[in-house]
Amino acid sequence: MATIDPIHVIGGGLAGSEAAWQIAQSGVPVVLHEMRPERMTDAHKTDGFAELVCSNSFRSDDAETNAVGLLHEEMRRAGSLIMAAADVHKLPAGGALAVDRDSFSALVSERIRTHPLIACERKEIVGLPPEDWNSVIVATGPLTSPALSKAIQALTDEDSLAFFDAIAPIVHIESVDMSVCWRQSRYDKAGPAGTGADYINCPLDREQYTAFIEALIAGEKTDFKDWEKSTPYFEGCLPIEVMAERGAETLRFGPMKPVGLTNPHREERPYAVVQLRQDNALGTLWNMVGFQTKLKYGEQSRVFRTIPGLEKAEFARLGGLHRNTFLNSPKLLDRSLRLKAAPRLRFAGQVTGVEGYVESAAIGLLAGRFAAAERQGETLSAPPPTTALGALLGHITGGHIAGEEEDGKRSFQPMNVNFGLFPPAEAVTPAGGKRLKGQEKAMARKRALTSRALRDIDAWLSAPGLQRTA
Ligand SMILES: Cc1cc2nc3c(=O)[nH]c(=O)nc-3n(C[C@H](O)[C@H](O)[C@H](O)COP(=O)(O)OP(=O)(O)OC[C@H]3O[C@@H](n4cnc5c(N)ncnc54)[C@H](O)[C@@H]3O)c2cc1C
Repeated sequence: MATIDPIHVIGGGLAGSEAAWQIAQSGVPVVLHEMRPERMTDAHKTDGFAELVCSNSFRSDDAETNAVGLLHEEMRRAGSLIMAAADVHKLPAGGALAVDRDSFSALVSERIRTHPLIACERKEIVGLPPEDWNSVIVATGPLTSPALSKAIQALTDEDSLAFFDAIAPIVHIESVDMSVCWRQSRYDKAGPAGTGADYINCPLDREQYTAFIEALIAGEKTDFKDWEKSTPYFEGCLPIEVMAERGAETLRFGPMKPVGLTNPHREERPYAVVQLRQDNALGTLWNMVGFQTKLKYGEQSRVFRTIPGLEKAEFARLGGLHRNTFLNSPKLLDRSLRLKAAPRLRFAGQVTGVEGYVESAAIGLLAGRFAAAERQGETLSAPPPTTALGALLGHITGGHIAGEEEDGKRSFQPMNVNFGLFPPAEAVTPAGGKRLKGQEKAMARKRALTSRALRDIDAWLSAPGLQRTA
């Protein structure tokens, strides 16, 4: 039998371990390169594969009405090592899947080390991988070592790769009260791809604005970690509460400026506005423009729900500001996660612009399957966009609307899996039953999304092409 060239995976974290496993399980050899313990990151403490650097939770395990729970289930069906190890070492945590971090990482490490098709090399990859590695998955995470990070940055021609990730909250459109808000771009400007009504505007009067500024300043914030304090900090992405502290009017002359806007509900210019901009091609998710923040999550929900029109806002993602390394994936990666400028390099994990342990592992799973299929002379189609795996892949390779901020910064930001990334599904009304309303309707809609997803992932997994060997 002809020997198959190995695929090289760089980084033995959540994504790299899963990618290596998926490749090996398909019968293709892998070399997994991990720099720990020779060189540690600022957050990792062990030499184990798939070390959880902070919380020990994989979040909700409810596959019926929660998007990350659905992602768990899809990954289980795809033979995920990360999910198998999490299931073995789960701890009591209500509806969440929490794990014993040491036993979890030990099991992943053992499965990787003992797999006959996986070789492990403990060394930092300090620049672009050698040219004769013709299929490589880069899964080096948010704390990618500087030498590799610089080499990737040079290859992608991007201004920056490692920086503070200024994340603004994202709202589900159906939770915005449009009897208070309205759609309008400043001065009705249409721009290159717009209509003149591209933003949703939430108006504040003087009293509401003053109360909002006070709440921002008083709100509880999260602290920077010591090693984050040395990361360069851009004036262009100051947290809103820092702007608020600089003076009562700073935000009204910044992201909350009311110029060029007229509130049609009152035929007047608002005192201040919060603008929402479409974030995904489906039009289901809208981000709060310029609202990066270090407020604690609970505080964000409380304070932002005081904004008129957002009283019942459901957040697909809350804001944050932390050190990260990720690519401008919608521009740089193709649909199978290859770098367009150098297709021998695939990317996986947090570095592709997903957020979270499970999401990182999920993209590792897909990158591994794509690479293994390619090595075997096959082309693996992407999972359908109706599945959690497909929806997440869609977000990083095309679903995000690529807008440029006024200061030229890219707008693509990391994302957790959430139902806003899925094409809508109608809630199923029980035969002969009454019309569903409110919370009941929302739950029925989620059930419709998840049952469609599981049906579609089963079809994708059983399609001819890559099959698991064990
Ligand atoms: C401080 C911090 C806390 C976080 N907390 C959470 C949380 O609580 N919950 C959550 O869901 N997500 C959290 N995240 C986000 C994210 O989910 C995790 O970082 C996750 O581990 C990402 O998975 P990954 O596989 O992409 O990267 P990692 O798991 O970080 O794996 C990358 C691996 O690549 C190795 N590596 C890096 N550079 C090189 C190189 N040049 N050569 C060889 N190896 C290299 C690293 O040593 C590491 O083992 C956190 C992130 C950070 C930075």
